[in-house]
Amino acid sequence: MSTGSSVALTDAQREEYNPFLSMQKGFNTAADYLGLDEGLREVLRSPDRELTVYLPVMMDDGGVRVFTGYRVQHNFSRGPCKGGIRFAPDVNIDEVRALSAWMTWKCSVVDVPFGGGKGGVICDPREMSAGELERLTRRYTASIMDILGPDRDVPAPDMNTNEQTMAWIMDTYSMHVRNTTTAIVTGKPLAIGGSRGRTEATGRGVMISCREAMKKIGLRPEDTRVVVQGSGNVGGIGALLLYREGYKIISLSDMYGSVYREEGLDVPAVLAHLREHRRLEGYTDAEHRPNAGQLEVDCDLLVPAATENQITSENADRIKAKLIVEGANGPTTAKASEILHQRGVVIVPDILANAGGVTVSYFEWVQDRMGYFWTEEVVNSRLEQVMVKAFNEVYSTAEKYKVSLRTAAYILSIERVASVYHLRGIFA
Ligand code: NAD
Repeated sequence: MSTGSSVALTDAQREEYNPFLSMQKGFNTAADYLGLDEGLREVLRSPDRELTVYLPVMMDDGGVRVFTGYRVQHNFSRGPCKGGIRFAPDVNIDEVRALSAWMTWKCSVVDVPFGGGKGGVICDPREMSAGELERLTRRYTASIMDILGPDRDVPAPDMNTNEQTMAWIMDTYSMHVRNTTTAIVTGKPLAIGGSRGRTEATGRGVMISCREAMKKIGLRPEDTRVVVQGSGNVGGIGALLLYREGYKIISLSDMYGSVYREEGLDVPAVLAHLREHRRLEGYTDAEHRPNAGQLEVDCDLLVPAATENQITSENADRIKAKLIVEGANGPTTAKASEILHQRGVVIVPDILANAGGVTVSYFEWVQDRMGYFWTEEVVNSRLEQVMVKAFNEVYSTAEKYKVSLRTAAYILSIERVASVYHLRGIFA
């Protein structure tokens, strides 16, 4: 159930599905373990800055439409804000706020020197031409550029934005400041300062998280049946890398439906079909099913890699997986996390599991600033080191405090950000 669902929600559901409240619950639990004082809690819970912009865009039919966009900078105490920009019809300020805060905790979990930021524009990219998307992206960039900069806030792709979007942002920013500023965004095409390995980085980080968690649980790839929700940058690439490691991917979905094959899907063939047809529909070597119930399919490992609020108090009891590795941001509500934790289901939380993307974004930013580019092997092996170290640090924090991996990830990351405030002081 996404927050943008047209189904009327009860008050309890509205509260459960509010990603900002969900983030705050995770934060508060961890802050209690750390014994953080109320003043610092308030600072860390609140975004630093929120910008709402209204964007006139010339449409192909000659008319002008005004779109609403946001950029939220949650915290930049550890370095420039870092976080993606999403284009979707159900973008809202609470979602962008939560995603922005999650970026602060995510950068801290993997210990990259960034704070958290996030942006979004309310639009339906499926109904827009490339020209309309380019004009929208450029206008959005121009409207938020006062708060952007390689040392201030460095956007990246997120849902429905990609390398091309980043190229437009980089160009628009560069035209305004009168020099080519490659380090203003990450996730760019290679030819204009992108990093090798960035496109696959989030999926690769998900794969590494699965592998490390499986070692702890005692599962072997060849015995593991996997369900992946979403087949975009994170889900598609994550599924492919897991498939190459010998996992059996039995179900994969996109927003229109899912494909299922008990013996395991031929993931490269499914992705080739997707590249050609842009949806799973029509793929021949699998059973087609509606999305409802996909997460409840009997499997060992579940990778929700589509959007938030997919595992809720309504379906948590029906989830069969022993291990959930969160490719998406916020796919499990706080209430559902609690239910699953009680049931002994291990969840590798989003702020750890999908941190491969921001880690290689950091590598990209470093390479842009040095003007010296690394090989894919160097990028992948540094990513591997960062992810394994972060996983083990979160795991040992969970053992130390006897808490879930999610609470442990929050404890570790909040402790790091709090220590910066202890050193720098609060400018109050
Ligand atoms: P994407 O647009 O490339 O892919 C999203 C996929 O999810 C598509 O296949 C889409 O059809 C599918 N989808 C959407 N709603 C669905 C639904 N209700 N059921 C089933 N499938 C659905 O987006 P992405 O970049 O892969 O991002 C996915 C998630 O991962 C988001 O939560 C995003 O914030 C998070 N994330 C992305 C990155 C990154 O580097 N791209 C990094 C960290 C986290």
